[in-house]
Parts: sequence; C-alpha cells; structure tokens
Amino acid sequence: MLEQTRSAAAFAAAKKIIPGGVNSPVRSFRSVGGTPPFIERGAGCEITDIDGNRYIDYVLSYGPLILGHAPKSVTEAIEAAARKGTSYGAPTLAETALAELVCELVPSIEMVRMVNSGTEATMSALRLARAYTGREKIVKFAGCYHGHHDSLLVKAGSGAMTFGVPDSPGVPSGVAANTLTVPYNNLAALEAVFQQSGEQIAAVIIEPTPGNMGLILPHKGYLEAVQKLVASYGALLIFDEVMSGFRASRGGAQELYGLRPDLTCLGKIIGGGLPVGAYGGRREIMEHVAPAGSMYQAGTLSGNPLAMAAGIATLTALKERDIAGQLETYTAILTGGLKERAQKHGLSLQFHRIGSMFSCFFTDKPVIDYDTALASDTRLFGIFFKAMLERGVYLAPSQFETGFLSAAHTPEAIQQTIEAADEAFALVAANC
Ligand SMILES: *Cc1c(COP(=O)(O)O)cnc(C)c1O
Repeated sequence: MLEQTRSAAAFAAAKKIIPGGVNSPVRSFRSVGGTPPFIERGAGCEITDIDGNRYIDYVLSYGPLILGHAPKSVTEAIEAAARKGTSYGAPTLAETALAELVCELVPSIEMVRMVNSGTEATMSALRLARAYTGREKIVKFAGCYHGHHDSLLVKAGSGAMTFGVPDSPGVPSGVAANTLTVPYNNLAALEAVFQQSGEQIAAVIIEPTPGNMGLILPHKGYLEAVQKLVASYGALLIFDEVMSGFRASRGGAQELYGLRPDLTCLGKIIGGGLPVGAYGGRREIMEHVAPAGSMYQAGTLSGNPLAMAAGIATLTALKERDIAGQLETYTAILTGGLKERAQKHGLSLQFHRIGSMFSCFFTDKPVIDYDTALASDTRLFGIFFKAMLERGVYLAPSQFETGFLSAAHTPEAIQQTIEAADEAFALVAANC
C-alpha cells in the first residue's frame, strides 16, 4: 500500500474549495478510485509526491514534457525571460523565433498564430474555417478530443448521419447541431455525411493518430482518403496535432504520413510545459486572421515571453538532436517488453505505439475506433493501474489516455517499468 497521508489531507482540503479538488477532471482519479498523489516536484523522468513517494512518470503533464521534468535548458530560458519582465502586451522577438521554429518543423504550416491552450487553438481554427468557407457545419470523429469549447464538446455519436448531441449540460443544442460526428477509420461513414451535407461543411477536424480514446492508429490509406474527400467538397481539413505534434514524429503525424492539412492545431509540447497553443497552415487561409484579415481572435497573454522562451528551448532541442528517433526506439522497447510480460501471464491485450506515444487496451479484440476502444475491460485496467502506482510507475488513471515517453527516460527506468508490469499483469491475470 502507498503511504498517502499527506495527499489524502491535501485532497480533502482542495475538495472544499476547488470543484472535485482538481483543476482538470482526469486528475481526480475518479475513474480508478483512490486518492491522487499531490506532486511536490519533478526531475528527469521522475516525480515525487508530498508523502515522499517517487514514480517513473509516463503522464508527463499529459504530453507536454518531451524533455522530461525541469530540463536545464528550459528552466534557464524561463528564468532569464522572467528577469526581464513577464508580459508586455507588445511584440517581442521571441514570438517570431518560435513561429519560425514551428514553420520549419511542421511541414504544412506557412503562417502561425500563438494562443494559450489547445482548446483555444481548435476553437480558433474552426472559426477561421467557417470564416474562410462561409459554411457552418463541422465534422469530428467519435472519441477524438479537441478541447472543451462548445462546438467540439459533442458526444461520440451513435454513428454517421447523427446530428450532434451535447456532451455536457450547458452546451447549446443549436451549437451542437452544427457538429456532425462519424466513427474514425470508417471512410464510408464520412462519405455518407458529405453526401448529405457536403455543401454546408466548413471543415473536418481530426486527430490524425487519435490519443484521447487511448492511442488508435489509422488504417493504411485512410488519412489520404479523408483528405481527398474533404478537398473534393471544398471543405478544409484540420489536423488537431495538439498531442501528436512533435511526438508521432518530429514534424507530427503529418510528416510521418506525408500529408498537408489546410490547418494544424498545436499545443502541449509547443509550450515546453508552459501554457501555449497555436494554429497555423496555408498562408492564404491564415491571412484571414485579424488584423491581417477579418476573422477576429485575440489574447492578453498570447505569445507570453516566458511561454515563448520555454517553447523555443524545447523545439530547439528537438531540432538539434534526434530526440524523436531515440524516443521511438525506447517506446518500442517498452511496449515490446510489456506485451511479452502480458503474454507470459496469459493475457491477450492490444498494444499500440507511434513515436513516443503508447497504449495498452485491456481487450483481446483489435481496437480501431471509439466503440472498439470502449470494449476494453476498465476493471482490469484499474487493477493494473493501481499495481503499477504502488510499484512506482505513474500512468494516467484512465484506460482511455495515452502514455508518453520523454528524452529523460533511461533504459534502466524502462526496464524497471517492465519488471513492475510483470507483477501487475500477474495480479490482473489472477482477477480475470
Ligand atoms: C490536450 C488536447 C487538446 C486540448 O488542449 P488544452 O491545452 O488542454 O486545451 C486538444 N486536442 C488534443 C488532441 C489534445 O490532446
């Protein structure tokens, strides 16, 4: 059993004044039960909680920390920037420097606007697509998450042709009605939606390698076919690479698959652990953004000097060293080791990986979309998750989150994780 005296007290105090005790729902550990460790510090691939427990971290703040916790280059860049003042509301050289790095690393981006979160990036990209096409409807994929603004907080629909149903009270049905939802990896469903409403569709927004229903990979040729279909109706294709950007490969999923979406949304890694999002794409489209054009979008702290400094330090490291390549190798070793240990205990699970992202679904059937992901046994996942936590491995407390590696994960840490999983899988097998 984990020593959690201090975290338990901290959680109780937090719950009195913060809804659910957390500032983002998944942190509450509600899906697995128990008390979330309150974190005191992070260094490299490890975090330490306020009871003194240490964990190898595969959450990495849900993706951003590709260099690990408190990497020297990023910490120093933030410190240096802070000494010069934290915000001016006026242009700085750092904004252009980060924009240039983004355009250099992400193949389809010719022009980019900085915002403060992934949610803001997708919200703005949709408004831009609507402004550019003069159309109102958008298409998303069941189980893809694009942030929490109204248009995209629409339930994984029951299939093609279903008009949106809000996923949360408070989302106006009129807004949700403009969001059409189709299953991922199913071209026929998307074709059907375009046949019915094609002339009204402004954009299709997709996580090219969905990571918010666990990690799911595209069928061969699927993304290419989606792009062709969307273009044939004069709609825009938006890649939400808030998670996959700089992770699926250095230039994101679009570089890996050789695709050029019209617009791309970024977040997470781009801020190096500080709050940054961005949307960018073809110059001719981006020139519609105010003040170059008439699509209004703004932000008091957008392009914040500290956040730009952290982003520049992070993307510079990715540019100068083959971190993405090293991480892919390590991720392959980790998932290979996990799969072998699961099989040793007679468990037939689904392991997916791409770049430095990975998932383990507790089901013996292939996982290709939202419905097949939902077939996973969350009770068994919960047993595995808790066993790993007790053995010093910090995974996201949900079957439907993706795991991440950082440049700070060592071969020893990975081996330790595989050994912990060996015992955890034994427990799972005993509870099947
Ligand atoms: C995390 C995420 C978002 C939302 O980003 P926030 O910074 O949490 O607003 C959007 N899209 C994808 C694919 C994400 O993984």
